[in-house]
Amino acid sequence: YQAKIQKGGYQFFNENIISTFLRKLDLENELRWAIARNQLTLYYQPQVDAQTGRLEGMEALLRWNHPSLGPVPPGEFIPIAEETGIIMDIGKWVLKEVCTQLNSWLSASLAVPAIAVNLSARQFMAPDLASSIHDIVCQTCCDPRHIVIEITESSSMHDIESVLPILHELKSFGFQIAIDDFGKGHSALGYMKQFPLDILKIDKSFVQELISDSKSAVITKAIIDMSHGMGLRVIAEGAETLEQMDHLRTMNCDIVQGYVIDPPMPSEQLEMRYLKGEWPTCRNGSENPSTI
Ligand code: C2E
Ligand code: MG
Ligand code: MG
Ligand code: MG
Repeated sequence: YQAKIQKGGYQFFNENIISTFLRKLDLENELRWAIARNQLTLYYQPQVDAQTGRLEGMEALLRWNHPSLGPVPPGEFIPIAEETGIIMDIGKWVLKEVCTQLNSWLSASLAVPAIAVNLSARQFMAPDLASSIHDIVCQTCCDPRHIVIEITESSSMHDIESVLPILHELKSFGFQIAIDDFGKGHSALGYMKQFPLDILKIDKSFVQELISDSKSAVITKAIIDMSHGMGLRVIAEGAETLEQMDHLRTMNCDIVQGYVIDPPMPSEQLEMRYLKGEWPTCRNGSENPSTI
């Protein structure tokens, strides 16, 4: 330890802590303005039928592009938004944006599937969450059946007594409910039967180890069979290769979402490629590192 200090390791360590702290402080201050300054956008990632490739749904994913900080990944700013409570306003913004997008596609007579929206655990701490979501959807004249509410397994298990009634309320309004990142958290299977679920999303860590790790394959198959037994549709997240996709198909997985199909993309691009069936050769705005 002493040697490390003498070599300057101590100072380096200190600077690291300070710059991490300053970065966070910066993001926190800037995030408060992100909505008003129009820095947030939604990207949409297609979810397709594993057998036919038909579009079955899409997930809305937040993107924050700051003029001087550049693009900040959701994995970095969502936790800050949760800690500071800014997620409450961001969550409402996301939902309004999705409803507006749905309306614009529907009024153009495009066949648009349901759109999935992510909710944070923090949002479930508002006891009026279900009615405030319903209000936004009603104000924009959207049909709740067009919206899938995604809740992560870890956030829902954490405070089951308050989450469960909210989920039932959302369900009664007509929203679809999906459990996200399934298998990643502490899987309390007992709670699963109480949840009013429509969709189960297998965490990408299993999907990405399907070929290399036989245990991941066995677990994935068991999750798919269990979900079907409970009448749920299964989405495999994070499929990156055709090999993984084939494997998922033989396991009877319903829907695939991953780079092998397409990365999250701006709404215009999703519209062209999936709703209008135009496939321009230029893929500007695409995030997929493997196909650029
Ligand atoms: P998530 O809800 O599990 O979303 C799926 C994540 O997997 C997305 O990351 C997506 O870009 C990524 N992904 C999709 N296909 C592949 C693939 O084939 N390979 C790999 N490696 N990744 C893939 P993203 O967009 O960075 O979002 C990260 C997380 O941030 C989301 O995970 C979600 O928990 C959170 N998030 C994003 N948007 C929102 C939002 O509007 N509200 C809330 N509360 N959370 C959000
Ligand atoms: Mg999600
Ligand atoms: Mg997920
Ligand atoms: Mg997640």
